[in-house]
Amino acid sequence: MEKKIPYDHKKIGKRIKLFFFYKNLNTGLPIWLPYGIYIYNKIKNFIKKINIINKYNEVVTPNIGNYSLYKLSGHLDKYLKNIFKIEYKKKIFLNPMNCPYHCLIYKFYNNISYKELPIKFYEFGTVFRNEKSGELNGLFRTKVFTQDDGHIFCKDIKEIVKEIDNIINIILLIYKKFNLKNYYIRLSLRDKNYIKNEYIGEKKNWIKSEKVLINIIKKRKINYNISYGDAAFYGPKIDFIIKDSFNRSWQLSTIQIDYNTPKRFDLKYVDSKNRLLCPVMIHRAFLGSIERFIGILIEHYKGFLPVWLLKIQIVIIPIYINHYKYCKLIFNYLIKKKVRCIIDNSSNNLNKKIKKFEKINIPIMLIIGEKEKVENRIFLRIKNKKNKNLKIKDAFKYILEYINNN
Ligand SMILES: [Zn+2]
Repeated sequence: MEKKIPYDHKKIGKRIKLFFFYKNLNTGLPIWLPYGIYIYNKIKNFIKKINIINKYNEVVTPNIGNYSLYKLSGHLDKYLKNIFKIEYKKKIFLNPMNCPYHCLIYKFYNNISYKELPIKFYEFGTVFRNEKSGELNGLFRTKVFTQDDGHIFCKDIKEIVKEIDNIINIILLIYKKFNLKNYYIRLSLRDKNYIKNEYIGEKKNWIKSEKVLINIIKKRKINYNISYGDAAFYGPKIDFIIKDSFNRSWQLSTIQIDYNTPKRFDLKYVDSKNRLLCPVMIHRAFLGSIERFIGILIEHYKGFLPVWLLKIQIVIIPIYINHYKYCKLIFNYLIKKKVRCIIDNSSNNLNKKIKKFEKINIPIMLIIGEKEKVENRIFLRIKNKKNKNLKIKDAFKYILEYINNN
């Protein structure tokens, strides 16, 4: 018998109406519902702001690509079994990674000066992976997902170190924001004896970039382990690994140093002596897959996601129809304060309404009856807390504070 998962995001996500899968009809392909896509977009906007502050330029690239592009990037030789072919004879593939297109964008800007480096591109890039059905797992492993994917083109080691330090700071800030503490770093290098033949590029660059990552990690007080033989085919990497509620490990953030892909794409910049040199590329994702990140959040918060992410933060429930006018007054005030609320004016009885909103984890319900209307008060039903009956002014103060702090 399958062991019971304490807070399975698949079950919770369906119950609180974020997303769903239909058995056999959309295996590995989540369908997002209005409450879910609201959270999805909130997280995207949160990352977008971080990218703007850190001088990333947003780009959009195609969802498909042709044979020669992925042959040039090396993905076809290394990942063919995970790439979807959509027109085999014409050799068109669904995009498995965003890096090749970001290299083309760099190439588009001819004659980039060393003074313009580092140059940063990012996109919420949707990618497609032909995963085996046994490996699929809710939002944790899907066939289609969107990465907050960024690439930084640098000129030298000093710049690489500075940028990676900055990326780690951002990742830690994001984890702090979501109160994620149960993580460690996996440093992925070549296999110990360098006998595997799957790594491309010059040995001296591998040694250099492995050293950079080791030094950066050692300076941080974060648990880490070294995984030999798990480097990307183009360079070593740092992954942030997080545990789900079943204690399984999942990779979220990633940082990778790449001396090779820019060479394959023949990328250049002009240095101070007017020479044409090849930049080094850092691949990075703060969240990794947004789908997986949301899955982790659902389990981490046991289904009660931070209030700032929710499409509906407050539900106002009139006990009888003649309480509606007072509810509307409360509603108008909260909307003006940018609180996302609704009034449930349906003909269901109070118990039924409460159950309905409890099921989808609405954090606060305001229940309005005769006493509240006559005495200008609000009855608050707050998740995981004692109920309160407050004067309207105090209730508003409480609600605004609650929304700011949760
Ligand atoms: Zn990349």
